Order: sequence, then structure tokens, then C-alpha cells
Amino acid sequence: MISKILNKVDAPFDENVIDIEKEKLIIAGPCAIESYDQLLETARFIKSKGVKILRGGAYKPRTSPFAFQGMRKEGLEILKAVKKEVGIMAVTEAIDEKSLSEVYEVSDMIQIGSRNMQNFSLLVEAGKQDKPILLKRGMSATIKEWIHAAEYIAKQGNTKIIMCERGIRTFNDYTRNTMDIAAIPIIKQETGLKVIADPSHGTGKRNLILPMSLASLAAGADGLIIEVHPQPEDALSDGDQSLNFEEFSNLISVIKG
Ligand code: PEP
Ligand code: MN
Repeated sequence: MISKILNKVDAPFDENVIDIEKEKLIIAGPCAIESYDQLLETARFIKSKGVKILRGGAYKPRTSPFAFQGMRKEGLEILKAVKKEVGIMAVTEAIDEKSLSEVYEVSDMIQIGSRNMQNFSLLVEAGKQDKPILLKRGMSATIKEWIHAAEYIAKQGNTKIIMCERGIRTFNDYTRNTMDIAAIPIIKQETGLKVIADPSHGTGKRNLILPMSLASLAAGADGLIIEVHPQPEDALSDGDQSLNFEEFSNLISVIKG
């Protein structure tokens, strides 16, 4: 094992809430929270498909400073209201220590995104929280670097960490990233942590989400995180890699077989 401290870890969720040993963890929702109605409609729909955790970014760490940066605090207020209205858990991203404390108040799980995988002060703060952390792989991170990032969190006492393979940069420019499917069993073998896959960011292309979901599950992934939007063509971010409701329904029926 590469990691000395990640072989004895806590289950990310209370098994009465989500028993990740028995059921796949499916997380779905828009890339970004755009309005109350958008999130409400999506949350109701995914819940009807059996999804227990809604995703949606309020703080969006965008590559360009001119791109939509998320609704920030207002987005978190929307998330709080929708969670209550629908009765669903949520994950949303913290981009720094300040947003971490705001996200903590609203979210059931705290996401640390690809761009912040080596934001060590954020990792240390995440390690002091008592909520599960979704740690996405840095887009140029090696497996070792990703495991060390998880250790930064675990060293503070929080071992409720779920790792997320979301694709890495390679010379392939056909897809947004290249999904490192082998990373899924490697992380499972080298740490005691659960691993989910993000074929939305992993490929950047809607028509590749289903095949890469199946590949990830075949490789042993404990779940998936999928971008879903009521009208992907109008999405403020990542519309090309978001499924509409019909496409998501189809994905769920295929993976549930
Ligand atoms: C996201 O999941 O909202 C996101 C920004 O993904 P990543 O950090 O993997 O790019
Ligand atoms: Mn996105």
C-alpha cells in the first residue's frame, strides 16, 4: 500500500443513510446552480429515479475569469431551500476556506474540485470537518499525488473521503480529459477509500457518458457523479457534457439492468 494511514477509514455515510457497500452511490444534478426552478426541477426528477444525492455548484472554479463563476452565497441559499422542499441530500464545492464554512452549513458532503486538489490549506480544513469529502483528482495529478491529497485530509481526523476519478490531461484532444479507468481499482487497492467516477468531466461529451459509466462500474467504481440539466443547450456551464432528463433516465435503466 502506498498509504500508511488510509487503510483504516470510516464509512463515508451512516449505513442507514447510504450503505455504500451494498448500493452504488449515484450523484446527479447540474454543473452549476442557476436558479431555484432549475434546481428544484432537477432535484425532483433525479429523486424520482432513486438518486439520493444532488450535485450543483454554487462556487464555480472556472478556468476563465470571464466565465460564469456561480451564484455563490445565493446559490447555497437555493440549495438549502431545494433540499428542504424535495427531501434530498446534496454535495457542492468549496473553493477556499471561507466557502468551506458556508458549504458546511448547507451541504451533506463537501466537494474539493480538481483545481484545488493540492490546495493544502483547504485540505487541512476539510480534514477538520465531520462531513464526508468528495476529493476529485487533480487534472494533472499522479495517483501518488492524489493519495497524498487524501492523506492531508485524513491526517486531521476525517477519513470519510470518497475519491473521484474525473479524467486527466493527456495528448488526446478528442475528449476534454482522458478517463484513467485503471485508477479506480488502483485507488481501491492502495487505500481503503471508495471511488466514484465522473464521466461528464472525464469526457466533456454527452454521448460518452453512458459507455464510460459502464466502464467505470465494470472496473469496480462505487458510484458515479453525472451532470444533468433540464435544458443542457441553455446551461450556463458544461451543457455539452450534461444529460437531459430522458438521457439520464436511460442511463439509470441501463446501469440498474
Ligand atoms: C465539478 O464537478 O463541478 C467540477 C468543477 O469538476 P472538476 O473539479 O472535476 O473539474
Ligand atoms: Mn461541470
